[in-house]
Formats: sequence, structure tokens, C-alpha cells
Amino acid sequence: MIDNRPLEQVDPEMAALIRKDLERQNTHLHLIASENFASRAVMQATGSVFTNKYAEGYPGRRYYEGCEVIDEMEELANARVRHLFDAEYVNVQAHSGAQANMGVYFGLIELGDTVMGMSLDQGGHLTHGSHVNFSGMYYNFVSYGLDRETELIDMDEVRRIALESRPKILLAGYSAYSRHLDYEAFRSIADEVGAIFMVDAAHFIGLIAGKAYPNPVPIADIVTGTTHKAFRGARGGLIMAKEQFGKAIDKGVFPGAQGGSLYNQIAGKAVAFHEAAQPEFRVYAAQVVANAKAMAESFIDEGVRVVSGGTDNHLILADLRSVDPDLTGKHAASMLNELGITMNRNSIPFDPRPPFVTSGIRMGTPAITTQGMEEADCRTAAELISRAVHHYQDEAVLADVKREVAALASKFTPYESDFSGHV
Ligand SMILES: *Cc1c(COP(=O)(O)O)cnc(C)c1O
Repeated sequence: MIDNRPLEQVDPEMAALIRKDLERQNTHLHLIASENFASRAVMQATGSVFTNKYAEGYPGRRYYEGCEVIDEMEELANARVRHLFDAEYVNVQAHSGAQANMGVYFGLIELGDTVMGMSLDQGGHLTHGSHVNFSGMYYNFVSYGLDRETELIDMDEVRRIALESRPKILLAGYSAYSRHLDYEAFRSIADEVGAIFMVDAAHFIGLIAGKAYPNPVPIADIVTGTTHKAFRGARGGLIMAKEQFGKAIDKGVFPGAQGGSLYNQIAGKAVAFHEAAQPEFRVYAAQVVANAKAMAESFIDEGVRVVSGGTDNHLILADLRSVDPDLTGKHAASMLNELGITMNRNSIPFDPRPPFVTSGIRMGTPAITTQGMEEADCRTAAELISRAVHHYQDEAVLADVKREVAALASKFTPYESDFSGHV
């Protein structure tokens, strides 16, 4: 028989681990650019009985019985996305951002076809052709990068490479680039070479939902995204497209890339779509960008070089060579985590160090904005980071920074100390 006692009683070991990570989440400053804090409402949906239902196929076309409510729920999720982004076709079934991209590739192109995307070491994503990822194994990826001087995407170069390689898909989007994308220029290059124009908005789709970053949906053929980064929802993927691509993408996702989808996650995504349609979400999205700008300016004032000289979104890439040529991203990120500031090492454009070491750190403001931080707090955070990296060998300075970080974080705890989101 089902044992419905609370987790604490059924599995105290796991309950303790959850409490331990709640404590970590409540006491650090969270600057991992792809992370956020989901609301209780989102967690209640992901922890709901929708976790029990098998549903393969799409609303109205299922392989299992009993999908009446699931169909209604998936239609609700789809309608919310259509409304938020002005989208024609929507698919909310992808388990993650990577599988959203997989579904698109599987649906629209043949194995071995050419796809053109941003190179991984200059800001692209694994699923944009890395040789250790399915994308690079199954497809012929060619890449574009940044201009060495401006550290911006060079659209003349994109056009030159596209004319030369004639990709089936021209892909814009990034995991580590802090500027707007020129959707119109990508569109016209895609049209010139007969490519499908796809935007992987995984990182910034939440900002688009909050009207703080330009919306590619009306311009691009396909837009993919994640629902757990700046979007602040349940973990998962999302695909939007012009209607004409819908049937093929549906097949690419299921049965191409996945079996039955994760309906508890889809319920959590749908709650996030509802939250993103509220006026407060626009305030949040605008604050994410204002906070990133405030941090970038502080770094520049403190003598820490910011890649491309600033930011238009939630991301800041800092070049640690401007602080000390011997300081690596790996060392800095691990030291900062010890001090209570969590982020990741990241290659900077044309980084002479390998990806496991790097010369940079990547920071993002979605999570700290959800925690309630505003510009002045972000300037304080940037000053603390800057002090730590400038004095990374001075234990006394680092001990001071650690105390000040704890004090700052304690003012912005995302959850109550006994929070358990699933009830
Ligand atoms: C995060 C990200 C993905 C993948 O998302 P997962 O949910 O981690 O699979 C895909 N593309 C880009 C650009 C991303 O930043």
C-alpha cells in the first residue's frame, strides 16, 4: 500500500539533504546566470499527482487512456505561452533546453546536415555543435564568433560564413554573451542563404517574457528556451515556431527525442507562464537587467575588465587577467564559493586557457533579483567580489569578505528556514 507519511519519516536521509541544500540556498549569494528560485506555487505543481500520469503524443492524440485532464493542462500551458510571446505554434513537452534543441534538429533536418551557430568558446552552447554533444556528433556544425576588438558578434562575418557553408539552420543564441542580438540581420542572412532562422533563447527567454529583452518570436522561424533560468519556473524546455514547422517539430520531440513527457514539470512550467504574465514579472525582469548593469559598472570602476564593456541582459563576463594574469577562472570561482558567492568559471573570448581552467568568471542577476536585491546591493556584491579577486592570496581580506557576504545574503534569503515547497 502507498506510504503517505511525510518525507521526514519515510526517508530522513533525503529529507536531511534537502534541508542542507535549502540552507546553502538561503545563505549564499547566487550568481550562477542560469539559476533562479522557483515559487512555492511552481513547486506545488511539480510535486503534484501529475507526476503519476503517462501521456505519449499530444492533446487529443494520445497512446494512453485517461489523458482528459492532462490534455486540458497541456492546452492551458500552450495557450499561456502563445499569449506571452505572440507565438503561433508551441510545444512544452521537451524535458530540458537541450532536448528542445534536439527535437527541433530531429524534426527539421537530416543527420549530417549543416547547422551554423555561435562557437562554444565564445558564448554558444553545447547543443550548438560541441563534438562531445549529440549536436556535434550527428550534424555538421560550422561556427561564428566574436570580433576580437569589440567582442560583439560580427554580422558581416556571420554572412560570409553562411554564404560559404549554406547551413540548413542558422542559429542565434548563447549561454555567455551579454548583448542584444540583431534578429533582423540574422533573418536577412538566413533568407539570403535559404536557411531556417532559429533562436535559442534558453538564457534570456524569461527576460523576453518580462519585456526586458527584444522578442525574437515574430521574426524567427523557431525559438527554443528553458523555463528554469531567468524564467524562474519548473525545470524544462520550450519550443515556439511558425505554424508551418509545427507538425515536424512535434514528431522531432515525440517520438523522436522523448517518450512520455514529465507532466508534473509541465504543470510547474504552466504556473510559471501564469506568473510571467503578471505585472510584477515585468518589474522583476527590468530589475534583473538594471542589476546586471549596476554590477558591470561597479566592476569597471574597480578595475575588473568586463567583456564587451558592459551588458544589455542579465549576464556579466569578467576577465580576470585584468586583475592578475596568474588568476584563473577555476581558482576564482572555487574561492568565491568558499566565501559564499556562487558562480561559474567561464572562457572569455579568445581565452588562451582551456575550458576547464579559463580566464574568466560568468555572473548573472536573475537569482539575486528574485532574492530581492536592487542596484545598491548589487554594487556592494560587485565590490566584495572585486576585493576578493584583487586580494585572493590575503587570508585576512578574504575572511572579511566572507563575513560581509554572509551579512548581505542574510538580508535576502529566498525561502523561510523551514520551507518545504512540496506541501
Ligand atoms: C541552458 C541552455 C540550454 C540547455 O538547457 P538544459 O535545460 O540545461 O538542457 C540550451 N541552450 C542554451 C543557449 C542554454 O543556455
